[in-house]
Parts: sequence; C-alpha cells; structure tokens
Amino acid sequence: MSKSGTDVAEEHGIRRSSHWPTVEKHFKQANPFCLACGKDKPQHPADIQVHHRIPFHFCILLGRPDLELDPRNLVGLCETETGPQLPNHHLLLGHLDDFKSYNVEVLDDASVTFAGLSKEDILASAPWIAKKANKPVAWAQMTDDGKKALRKLMDTWYPVS
Ligand SMILES: [Zn+2]
Repeated sequence: MSKSGTDVAEEHGIRRSSHWPTVEKHFKQANPFCLACGKDKPQHPADIQVHHRIPFHFCILLGRPDLELDPRNLVGLCETETGPQLPNHHLLLGHLDDFKSYNVEVLDDASVTFAGLSKEDILASAPWIAKKANKPVAWAQMTDDGKKALRKLMDTWYPVS
C-alpha cells in the first residue's frame, strides 16, 4: 500500500505494524506485478503498491488488526514512482480515485473488468464512473450499520482461524 494509505491511517492515530515491511517485501517477491497490468509484465518493485483490499485502518478500527498482514487481503497494483508513467491502477482500481475509500471488487476489476486498461480508458469508462460515484464512504461518514456490515464482510472473506 502507498504512503497515502499510511497517511489516511495516521489521521486515525494508527501506525503500521512493525511486521509490515517484511510482509510487504515477501508479497512483492512472490507477486512482482500489478494484477491489472498483467502477471506477464513484471515491474520495478518500487512501482508496485501492496494494496489492502479492505484498507488496514478499517480492519484495525473494526477489531481485525490481523488483516493488515494477511496476504488474503493484499493485491499488487501499479503506482508510478521510478520509471515510465504507469496507469496507476492502485489509485483508480484499488481506491476508486480516493485514498479514503476502496473497491470491494478490486480483484475482479483488476483481473477481468478493467484488466490492461490505460488510465485514460478507465477514467472514460461508464462502469468505472458509476463505481466511483457509489464508492464506500470514508470512516468519518460511516454509520453503525455500515460498520457492522463491513466487519461482517471481513469475517466472511477472512474467517478468524
Ligand atoms: Zn497496473
């Protein structure tokens, strides 16, 4: 995940786990690509963000801090930091253009629906524009029911072992 994700978490007084750098490094070694650009296009490690499908500040605030480090909650997405300009699938598909939000369908969207699309093509896509308009609200705007539903989603996707 990006510096921006860390910044959002810090607004809630949440710091990254001391184990994160190791988890991030191992994930990038095993998955040296952006899921949306394609597994056949390995990228510079600095240009891959290890994204949390459900952002880790939500996981911590809702009592599932284990999901910060759980590989099931992680996916690699591109974000230009070094080389040529990339589509920045991290912001567009991982966060629907808002680091305070996220995309529950990121795996399908990156691997199927918007796979291989450029930034321009995604920004012009009606399905993407509709998703962005309906993106999950930030923590500060969440209702109690919304929080319960998100915790239920966490426990459904990632049962506590
Ligand atoms: Zn990409």
